[in-house]
Order: sequence, then C-alpha cells, then structure tokens
Amino acid sequence: MKVVVVGIDGASWDPILPYIQQGMYPGFAKFLNEGLHGPLLSTIPYITQPGWKSYSMGRNPGKMGVYFWSKIDWKNMKIKNINSLGFHGKDYWDILSDSGKRVAIIDMPSTFPPKKVNGVMLSGIPHGEGTWVYPEEFEKNIPTSYVKEQIHLFNRNENPEQTMDGIEKEVQSRFEMAESLWNNDLIHLSITMNDHVSHFMWDNENIMKRNFKVNDEGISRILSKNKDGYTLLMSDHGNGPIEDEFYANEYLAKEGLLAKKEAKNPMLSRESVVNFGKKTGLYKVARSLPDGMQVRIVKRIKDLDSSMEFEIERLIDWKESKVLALDEGLFYVNPMFIEEKDQIVEDLTKRLKSLKSKTNKQVFKQVMRGEEVYWGQYLSEAPDVVAITNEIYHQRFQLSGHLWATDIPEKKMAYRTRQVAHHRIKGIFGLIGPGISPKPITASIYDLAPTILKIFNCEIPPDMDGKPLI
Ligand SMILES: [Zn+2]
Repeated sequence: MKVVVVGIDGASWDPILPYIQQGMYPGFAKFLNEGLHGPLLSTIPYITQPGWKSYSMGRNPGKMGVYFWSKIDWKNMKIKNINSLGFHGKDYWDILSDSGKRVAIIDMPSTFPPKKVNGVMLSGIPHGEGTWVYPEEFEKNIPTSYVKEQIHLFNRNENPEQTMDGIEKEVQSRFEMAESLWNNDLIHLSITMNDHVSHFMWDNENIMKRNFKVNDEGISRILSKNKDGYTLLMSDHGNGPIEDEFYANEYLAKEGLLAKKEAKNPMLSRESVVNFGKKTGLYKVARSLPDGMQVRIVKRIKDLDSSMEFEIERLIDWKESKVLALDEGLFYVNPMFIEEKDQIVEDLTKRLKSLKSKTNKQVFKQVMRGEEVYWGQYLSEAPDVVAITNEIYHQRFQLSGHLWATDIPEKKMAYRTRQVAHHRIKGIFGLIGPGISPKPITASIYDLAPTILKIFNCEIPPDMDGKPLI
C-alpha cells in the first residue's frame, strides 16, 4: 500500500471553493467528489511549527514540549529558537520506519536537523548549520531546481507576477521530488510557499489563481499516479484576511507589565538593515546568481532580518518585566514574580478580554489559562495565558514602537509589504483511497497520524491525541 500526503502550508478550502464551482482545479475538486473532505482543525496556536509537528506526532504541544518557533529562557534572558531536536517523542514515520516501511519526507518545516528514517528526509525550514538531508549522500541527487529554502518572496516595489514565476518553479520542484521518490511506501511533501503567497497576495486575484493552479497541477499528477493507494491532502493551518496586526509587548509596556530599557550597545536597527537591503537591491542581485549562491545570500539577508526581531531581548528589562508575550497570544509570566502569578494572570485575562481595537472591535475572542488549552507531560512549559485573537487581527511579539501595524509609517516598512491575511484554525483536509466514499467531515490535525498508521496496519501509540478517520 502507498500513502502520499500532500501538505500545503496555510491552505483552506474557503478561497478555492468558488473556483471549483466554476469547474476549475480538478485535483482539489477530486477530494470533494470522491473522498472524505472538510476543514482540518489545527492546534493552538495555529502556526507552522507546532502545526506540522502536531500532524506528524499526532499530539498536542503539551506532549511535544513546543508551543511556538522559539521559547523564553528567563534565566539567560534569551528568546531561543527551536529546531527538530526541541520536540519530544516520535513522528509517525519513525514508527513506519521501525516496521520496515520505506518513507520519503520532503520539505516539512521543523525537521532540521534531519533524523534517521528508513528512506530519505529533505528537511524543511528553519535550517541551520550542517547537513539538511538524510542520508547525507542523497544531497548529490537533488536537482538544482530544488532550492532548499524559498527564495522568491514578495517584496515592496517588485513586480509580484515576476516573483510568482519563481514561486511556481519552487512549488513544481517539490512535486517533482515526490514523483522521483515514488518507490517509497509513504511520501510526504510540504508546499510551504502557499503560506507566503496567502499572507501577502490574498487580495491579488491573479496571483492567488496562479498559486492554486500550480498546486492543483501537482496534486492532479500525484492522483493520477497513485490510483491504487491513499492520497491525503492537508495543511498545518488555514489562512484568511486580516485588518491589522497587534503588538502585544508594546501593549504590555503601556499597561506597566513589561519594562523597556535602552540597549547599551544597540545593534544595527532593524530599519537600517532592511533599508540597506532595499537600497542595494540585494534581493534582486541575489536572484540573478546561480541557485546555490542565491540560497546563501537570501538566507543571509533573512537571518539578518530575523535577528533584528530578537532585538527585543536587549530592549526589555528582564528583571522588572512581569509578563512577556510571544506571537499568537501566548503570554508568559516571569518566574521571578511566581508569588504574584495568580493575581497577574487574573488581572491580565480581565484586561485582554475587554481590550478594544482602534475601530472599537474586540481584539481577543477567547482568553484562557494554558492548562485549559493543553495537556501532557510538558504542560509546565505552556504559556500562562493563551489569548485567541478575533480572526481579523494577528498578534506579534516584536517591539515596533507602535501598538498596531497600521500605525507604522510607510517609510519604516522598508522592503516589506504588509500582510493582508493571516492564519485561521481551519485548514484543508481530503482523503482519497480504497474503500473511501465521498463524505464531508471535520477532522482534527491529531487524527492524521493515527489514520496513516492504521492504513499501514501499525499499532497506534495510546497517547496520540487523535483517532483514525477510516
Ligand atoms: Zn504554516
């Protein structure tokens, strides 16, 4: 039996459905006409890192020990990035590997450094130093068309149609890699480019259609090749339009819960770095170079850019701050204030619940304690307060100097374009295969690993949080 999982980062049914009704996108349509299909409820927060791994581990963040891209290290006053080594437990393909099945895992985020599998793993973002492919010698088989990280990004003052030309090639390279690894029992491929397109081009109909089309062509090829096996369509989370972005730590500072300080040796400001990139046209230059060199240069700019995001480490007074937020409504109380913790949590919850936006709308639709959202052996590392934003808002943790993204002057945006869409909890789900009849269902992201293990007649670990869908 063969199982092919096509994972499209940030995909939802909502924006595709009107086109399917017009007879477009036969690959996506096939799941609606022939398979189990419907929304896939992601984990909380519904973002890439915990999202993908909730799928592959079949467990909630409280059991994986990872809630975000990074974690707060109060003792060393750092916000530390997390890679694949930060997750506790097994991915379902480890169980398949142990039972002798051959697996190919292509570009799934949070798989760097790559782990040993019975097959091949091409790890996904974020990458670090060292080999990104298992087995290492497989790297020489990778065609130059498969660039390890997305290098075509929508930047200000550049023609989005041209950027999309590059993104189409990147998407095609993932499907081509899946086809070239067809002799495996399980093939998982992630198409991460869809999320970037959604964030920045949601309101650009032509770009969105080109993006659906290139994904649909890949899906159609997979479906026509995998006639006797199972094909699973999924995403780590969905996307939908937003009106604004809320800067939570600026809010905490305003409320006296976070103390800012002047950095003693300020690094280059984020603004000066992005302006440098813009002025010198580094992105454009990078794209005219051979692939290998492009990757190195674009990655360097991205590293420089993301390192600026962590300038927050130097801009806050760690001893005087009672609360620190990460993205997506994750609030952590400083352990130095443990005795006041219950009071701080209660007070913060009350404030967040009543918080209104500039246009007098509720900023958060639900504010809960960490233990109400998560369960498992790593619950002690969970955020103390989890605030789910009203879906028209996205919440960021950087210190921008402004409470709302729409307050940031255009000149400060440098090469960046504003995000017009952000994540939704409802992703995309479809499953076609032997014995399956068309039926709408609502699936949980935790159900996918048990479903795949059942297809392969492997034992489902009892502590997985989902159940088989067939
Ligand atoms: Zn994602």
